[in-house]
Amino acid sequence: MAPLIIDGKTVSAAVEAETVLRIAALLERGVTPGLAVVLVGEDPASQSYVKMKERDCERLGIRSFDARLPADITQERLNDVIDGFNADPHVHGILVQQPFPRHLDVESVVERISPAKDVDGFHPENLGKLMRGVPGHRACTPWGVMRMLDHYGLELSGKRAVVVGRSLLVGKPMGLMLLERNCTVTYCHSRTVDLPAVCREADILVAAIGRPKMIGAEYVREGAVVIDVGINRTEAGMVGDVDFDAVAPICSAITPVPGGVGPMTRAILMSNTVGAAEALTA
Ligand code: NDP
Repeated sequence: MAPLIIDGKTVSAAVEAETVLRIAALLERGVTPGLAVVLVGEDPASQSYVKMKERDCERLGIRSFDARLPADITQERLNDVIDGFNADPHVHGILVQQPFPRHLDVESVVERISPAKDVDGFHPENLGKLMRGVPGHRACTPWGVMRMLDHYGLELSGKRAVVVGRSLLVGKPMGLMLLERNCTVTYCHSRTVDLPAVCREADILVAAIGRPKMIGAEYVREGAVVIDVGINRTEAGMVGDVDFDAVAPICSAITPVPGGVGPMTRAILMSNTVGAAEALTA
């Protein structure tokens, strides 16, 4: 039987529709949600992500505040920019586009952002809240995956989830969110021994690796739900970490690339910004 295609465009549209209603309620109270996006340097991929985020803001009626900073900016000057946004009552969310130049200290940049405005969910306070299981800003990509699983009513409790990838942006928070929903979670990474065998134990397999089409049929148990977070630009175009054609006949549900997790990340960022505006102006 053909698998369920978990369609990021459909789910992100549903998230956006909710966000639009929440923005209308804020506007009625005289609050326009605002998102500050900080871009250091001229990395073309980062520039295009930032542009897409600004377009999302414009479409939804979120005010965007830009800071395009030179690649050789000092840590002190960047701190000043972040402090300015932290203090600005019109700015409810702050995002510093990663990656940024090596001379800047990632940790101190992330920690500089006010946790209440950390709509990326990377501040230690928000990561700590995720670990503690209390509300806080949640990292957009894994939170988007959770929304997709819920949208399609896919059962999580008691399921075996395997997350391939342990980055702070995706893999680690992904596993914690699945654990929070009573999955039995296994993390895999580049040192995992016999990765295909571990992945074959999964009812829910999440690939967040950054290796084009690495997850083939031998990694997937019959009937598994397969979530492909990967975005890999190849000569053949954008592909995920999962070999869709090989895996689709085996699994029960799967996200495509493009059109799967990708649109969710942006929709959740907008939703988190609105959540920050609601909390900061309550
Ligand atoms: P990172 O490079 O930070 O992390 C990759 C993870 O994959 C690491 O934990 C690494 O293990 C693991 N890994 C690498 N090679 C292997 C291997 N051969 N076998 C097993 N594990 C391996 O990437 P990110 O987490 O930031 O992103 C992952 C993917 O998701 C990328 O394709 C990225 O473009 C995409 N992405 C998509 C988003 C979206 O909106 N859809 C948003 C963010 C990311 P180790 O820790 O041992 O090095």
